[in-house]
Amino acid sequence: MIDSPSSRVALVSGGGSGIGEAITHRLVREGYGVGVLDLKPDRLSAWADTLDDRGRLEIHCCDVASEEEVERSVASVLSRWGRLDALITVAGLLEFAHAADTSCATWERLVAVNLTGTFLVCRAALPHLLRTGGCIVTTSSTAALAGLAYGSAYAATKGGIIAYTRALAVEYAKRGVRVNCVCPGAVDTPMTQNLGIPDDADLSLIARQLPLTAAAKPGAIAGIYCYLISADAAHMTGEVVRIDGGMLA
Ligand code: NAD
Repeated sequence: MIDSPSSRVALVSGGGSGIGEAITHRLVREGYGVGVLDLKPDRLSAWADTLDDRGRLEIHCCDVASEEEVERSVASVLSRWGRLDALITVAGLLEFAHAADTSCATWERLVAVNLTGTFLVCRAALPHLLRTGGCIVTTSSTAALAGLAYGSAYAATKGGIIAYTRALAVEYAKRGVRVNCVCPGAVDTPMTQNLGIPDDADLSLIARQLPLTAAAKPGAIAGIYCYLISADAAHMTGEVVRIDGGMLA
């Protein structure tokens, strides 16, 4: 029986930056074989070159909104390690605009990457997770739990991820695959460095989505994902875990 982290394999979408990068670093350190799907994996590749065991990481330049690229990348990870124990979907985009000014292009881009991207990666991974009794952790946001002014398209995709996660959790519970969702609050990553909030925005409307203390560092978020894929979380599925330093408490 293969059950130690050193023999487990995880797949992380969006592992090239921010929260996904911190999760990838941690999983590699814990001994997982990790496959990463990301559009911009350059920094992660540079880090990988510093590892004693470079073989623990396989990085794919992959657009999660592309069915063909996702299928090909997941197949490659499977052919390398022959198994998949955990999928963590983190790849995402954030764009702000007045709801009345949100273009169809913006809406479709956010849906394609955040929601369709989550669907495509989960769909490709599920047959392999069924074989190992593996698990999935998706990434939503506090934007799905409390109204995010000027972020309606983003919030809609993140709400969809929660609904999708719960549906998968119920559908696969009896077949041994757990599916949970993490909702981070403000995290200090490249995504939050240039938010692009409209100049004329009423900032009082987004006050509820501002951190009570400093924004979290990505490393402070990574642990909850690692917990959710661990044996300690064996009885958790369909859960939506808010990790926001008390922001929405
Ligand atoms: P980030 O921009 O640092 O990382 C996002 C990663 O996703 C990048 O590596 C990027 O290249 C990748 N990506 C984007 N589009 C992609 C695509 N089409 N295909 C493959 N990869 C793609 O951002 P982050 O803050 O680490 O965000 C990670 C996730 O956490 C996102 O889903 C985001 O919505 C969510 N989130 C972030 C915050 C925050 O405050 N930073 C809060 C709540 C939720």
